[in-house]
Amino acid sequence: MEKTFLMVKPDGVQRNLVGEIINRFESKGFKLVGAKLMNISNDLAENHYGEHKERPFFGELVQFITSGPVFAMVWEGENVISIARDMMGKTNPLEAASGTVRGDFAMTVGKNIIHGSDSPESAEREIDLFFNENDVLSYSKQDSAWIY
Ligand code: ADP
Ligand code: MG
Repeated sequence: MEKTFLMVKPDGVQRNLVGEIINRFESKGFKLVGAKLMNISNDLAENHYGEHKERPFFGELVQFITSGPVFAMVWEGENVISIARDMMGKTNPLEAASGTVRGDFAMTVGKNIIHGSDSPESAEREIDLFFNENDVLSYSKQDSAWIY
């Protein structure tokens, strides 16, 4: 079953949106298989956002993501990577549809509430970066048969 890495960014934690965000993915039918509230070190931030190293906003991005606790999660389910990206909405909240996390709760691209892996390769890389193997659980739920 596919897994993805999602993270409530510092602005989402400060604005008390952790529960709201968990609720959306739980209600959709995905399974939470790993979660932790944590501070991100500079090294981890620079590694996680390595693909944006040359972009003008990189410094600001690293500073923001290390500015306070984030809520890191691993979610599991069929096509969870692309469905979660849809549920997050476009990167720039100006373009994010209502009904998406960013469309409903965010106003600026620099503070857009949530991160989600954009491909199977980045999901694997990001889960490995943020979680020990033992902290990503494998378990079944009674109602799985009714959802998948
Ligand atoms: P996404 O988070 O949707 O995958 P990107 O990977 O393109 O988006 O960018 C990573 C993060 O960098 C974005 O979520 C956003 O917070 C920040 N970012 C992207 N573009 C800009 C920009 N033009 N100015 C400031 N921050 C940006
Ligand atoms: Mg991205």
